[in-house]
Amino acid sequence: MTAKPSSLEDTITTVTEYARARKFDKNSTARGLAISLSLEANELLEYFQWSEEPLGTKQDLESELADIFIYAIQFANNCDIDIPSAIQAKLQKMEQKYPIEIFHIEDDDERAKAQLKAKQNYKKDTAL
Ligand SMILES: [Mg+2]
Repeated sequence: MTAKPSSLEDTITTVTEYARARKFDKNSTARGLAISLSLEANELLEYFQWSEEPLGTKQDLESELADIFIYAIQFANNCDIDIPSAIQAKLQKMEQKYPIEIFHIEDDDERAKAQLKAKQNYKKDTAL
């Protein structure tokens, strides 16, 4: 294992090299990775299944979160997705859906109305 990654780019590189060395990149499909990503997210959810507070330790949660990110990175590599660019593009879309001014409206009712209106005005750009 290489030195502790200090950035998202370093983490992506570390996971990519780890997967490539084990030929995971050659033996994985986008479908398989998407399923694995979802399963890992559900493993995290299991810690909260019967309790508001997680039933596991912080290390348990860290491990499940790491699984999610590792599969997300592998999925991105498989689909030729640049994660920082994808996140940036998504945040720009979300700025339209959730304009920052709305969250600074003091009155709860007015803020709720503004949020609903912004949501209704937002046009989804995907079928899903
Ligand atoms: Mg797991």
